[in-house]
Amino acid sequence: MPAMIISGKELAAQLRSEMTEEVAQIRENGKADKHFCPPGLAVIQVGSDPASSIYVSNKKKACEQVGIMSFGYSLDVNATQEELIDLIDTLNRDPRVHGILCQLPLPRQMDEFSVICAIAPEKDVDGFHPVNKGLLSIGRECLVSCTPLGCLSLLKNLGIPIAGKHCVVIGRSNIVGKPVSQLMLAENATVTITHSRTNDLPAVCREADILIAAIGKQGFVTAEFVKPGAVVIDVGINRGEDGKVRGDVDFESVYPVAGAITPVPGGVGPMTITMLLKNTIHAYKNLTGRS
Ligand code: NAP
Repeated sequence: MPAMIISGKELAAQLRSEMTEEVAQIRENGKADKHFCPPGLAVIQVGSDPASSIYVSNKKKACEQVGIMSFGYSLDVNATQEELIDLIDTLNRDPRVHGILCQLPLPRQMDEFSVICAIAPEKDVDGFHPVNKGLLSIGRECLVSCTPLGCLSLLKNLGIPIAGKHCVVIGRSNIVGKPVSQLMLAENATVTITHSRTNDLPAVCREADILIAAIGKQGFVTAEFVKPGAVVIDVGINRGEDGKVRGDVDFESVYPVAGAITPVPGGVGPMTITMLLKNTIHAYKNLTGRS
């Protein structure tokens, strides 16, 4: 039987439509209160890298679609780290702002870790702050990075069983591999984390009921990595010389073997911004106590 194609695009549209209703209700509930501010996300961009500009513009558009306020801040590529941290400090104290996102990568004169640490953990909708990373690792409520959350949301919304299953994650980055592994562990999967030094990677991956690929190498995962019937989640976004976006999974060879598979584009990608919106609403509720 051919694999089920897991459409992140469809699920993202459904979740965004639910969030639109939720935000409309929040706005309705707050109408009578003169101090009311709707959920708001501040997006900071330093410099004008074209790829970053597209991401930032897509994030702002997505906010507007669901009724979340978006506040854009642009700093010059030569801005100092102090200037950026001053701006973050101001946003940390701004009651209209419930989520703060600083588009990465930052210019060379800035230290990403110091900048991330400057964001108030309760407004850290990217889930990159060490407080949120730590809370995730001990299984406590926190803001979780958007891409890993998107992977989990896909599996859960499609009713794919996780508890007791063997999940193999390829990649151990702080933004995808590690947090997605922790999320799967919290869902009671048996988790194996693999990386560039793993011996006989295809054999380890063939043990997986759920295989999550977050490598950054186009078409790296071929049919020999996949147990028949396994669920394959492709996090990779690789732009080929032809300008087309492709995943870390070689879709053509894996599709006939897998039980379910996310396409690229249209799989994990659309879920990432959707989870950013979800995190902003979540942060709003935690900060204001409103619903
Ligand atoms: P990253 O920081 O470069 O990490 C890549 C990981 O893959 C590393 O842990 C690395 O192992 C491992 N790896 C590299 N070559 C390998 C090999 N030959 N065998 C086994 N493991 C290998 O990348 P990332 O930020 O996690 O992103 C991974 C992919 O996801 C990229 O394509 C990125 O564009 C994409 N992405 C997509 C979204 C989305 O919204 N869909 C969001 C974020 C990232 P070592 O640790 O040993 O070096």
